Amino acid sequence: MISYLFQREQETSHLRYSLRYLAICLMLLIGPLRVAIAEEKTRVDQIFALFDSGESMTRESIEQNISLLEKLISSDDTVRIEKLNQLKCWNQPSETEADVSRSLKHTEQILTQISPSASPHFVIDVTLCHAWFLQLSGDINGAMEGYSKSVKSAYEHEDIKLIADARSLRGALHSYIGDFSEALDDLVTAQGLYESLNLTGWANINLTDIATSFRRYGDPESAIKYYQKIKNLYLKNGNLDQVASVTSDIGIALDEMGEHEQAIENFRFSYQYFKDHKYKLIAAINATNIAYSLIQLNRLEEAEKYLKEAALDITEKEPGSYSFMKLFMGKIRYQQGLYQEALEELTSAEKAFRTMHNDRGLIQLLQLKSDIYAAMGDLQHAYHTLQQFVDLTKKVDNSSTAHQTTELKVKFDTSRIESENKRLLDNQKLKEQELALLEKNKSLQLIILLLTGCILAIVSLFAYKQVHRNRHLQTIALTDYLTQLPNRRHIYAQAEQYFQQALKQKTPLSVIIFDADYFKKINDNFGHEIGDQALLTIAQACKELTADRNLIGRIGGEEFLILLPNTTAERVWELAHELQSLISRYGAINLPEELKLTVSAGVATLSPEAKPQDDSFARLLKRADNALYEAKNAGRNCVKAAKATD
Ligand code: GH3
Ligand code: MG
Ligand code: MG
Repeated sequence: MISYLFQREQETSHLRYSLRYLAICLMLLIGPLRVAIAEEKTRVDQIFALFDSGESMTRESIEQNISLLEKLISSDDTVRIEKLNQLKCWNQPSETEADVSRSLKHTEQILTQISPSASPHFVIDVTLCHAWFLQLSGDINGAMEGYSKSVKSAYEHEDIKLIADARSLRGALHSYIGDFSEALDDLVTAQGLYESLNLTGWANINLTDIATSFRRYGDPESAIKYYQKIKNLYLKNGNLDQVASVTSDIGIALDEMGEHEQAIENFRFSYQYFKDHKYKLIAAINATNIAYSLIQLNRLEEAEKYLKEAALDITEKEPGSYSFMKLFMGKIRYQQGLYQEALEELTSAEKAFRTMHNDRGLIQLLQLKSDIYAAMGDLQHAYHTLQQFVDLTKKVDNSSTAHQTTELKVKFDTSRIESENKRLLDNQKLKEQELALLEKNKSLQLIILLLTGCILAIVSLFAYKQVHRNRHLQTIALTDYLTQLPNRRHIYAQAEQYFQQALKQKTPLSVIIFDADYFKKINDNFGHEIGDQALLTIAQACKELTADRNLIGRIGGEEFLILLPNTTAERVWELAHELQSLISRYGAINLPEELKLTVSAGVATLSPEAKPQDDSFARLLKRADNALYEAKNAGRNCVKAAKATD
């Protein structure tokens, strides 16, 4: 009972240890691994979120963040690698003309190298990025085509962020070339999507385009309202680049309302800001704007000074700004009476306007040109130019009328846009849930894998321990605790095998059975411990006699059996005597001097040549035991051979 309880106790503590081991194993393996993976992913996703938000960043921090992402994202994380490549495309330098053409070339390369396994999101975004660089390089038709293609694909894949991006970019371009109807349709849709997705940064940029469209359409008051709203948002965020940029937009709207003094104030603020921050080109554009307002106020000398300064940084390679700069210079020359020079300025301006498909600019230019010809007395050219002016104005008016209709359509169709957007957003949510589930499953799989590993390790440990324990128990069960020799059960089992083998192979098998003489007296006279010592001495002598300890067994208190396969009767007779002398020799060494340790032995042999008298090992043993009995009777300390007839 005690041992049972002890065993139970042992097992419970094993269980407790194994649970603790499991917990430690889990903590050690899953904990840091999951934390490390999660931490890296969180850091990467935080940087992505920063870019996604649309907040403006300095070129330095853009580059720092991109190289950090390159370091953190592992090469097998295809989703994040695609995202990184998209970022790299959009954040290529575009500050100078050379930057733009280099970036465009690089983007074309990315487009041609897209792998067939790339996600649709990646393909659409890179197409969009390519169209953006086409726009920057002045290829308006190419850009429009790229945007429209992206809008279509984004709808096909119900990719909301990309629908918003593509429609926002296309809307801004429509607005720029004067297609306000198309512009507002795109921009209002994009605005709704950005706001629903909580992408405030992008929503603000898009709102600026909406405001600009209102201004271009001839509604500067509405435009200023929007600009002011955006400016306040940027002021709150401390985004001063954007504050300066919107201030300049407000200036243009003020000019259109005839508030030139106020417009100049706005432009001057922005001009100074960009000049101080080394944005030369934008500062130059603001100088051009100041010049325009000054011309309206007939302050030509001041205007000329600003334009000359702008000309240092605005070249033909910036056709958007170059066209207006030249137009304004032409205006000054005209008012100064320098007609030929004025016409020269206008020739450069016209070329640039045509490159940019800027009909609004061209209308202003044609009107001025016609006035110049008239002033020069060249009525034929004046009339011809006026004709061009009228035709173009009609065309733009038509699109403005179309716009008015569309504006109504846009207003009344908000419910259509809203329900369309809602459906898209609902689908997006479903997709996000699926993705989240997928991600969760991935971590679950990892945990299961690690858990299985741990359980396997524990089970193996237990199995190993169990095998070890069983082996140990088996050894204990078969071994004599004192001499560490095979016990009675073991030696009898061994003997049975050797007996069968000897019969089969027709080889001799001998046994020696022996018993210590007067052992009771030894215990009585010298104590039990010395008795034990004597038994160990006997075991030592046996081991000396035969190298294989599995052939020696302790079959009783002071009674032993030695198996001797392939050993004849003559040989065993000799060996039994040898054993006697070994025992007395070791006894003299190990035991008290007055203790004379002797044994009596009986030997028997199973011999194949004579007709075998032993049909079992028990029979052979019995003959040997009889011989031992004889030896005891003969006065002890002697060897007797078994009789064949026993
Ligand atoms: P005989 O010469 O006739 O064999 O006399 P004996 O005294 O040796 O025979 P008996 O069988 O009367 O006594 C054997 C004794 O051996 C009795 C027992 O106390 C002792 N004995 C048995 N096992 C052990 C043991 O493990 N250690 C010790 N010290 N004594 C043991
Ligand atoms: Mg005895
Ligand atoms: Mg005995």
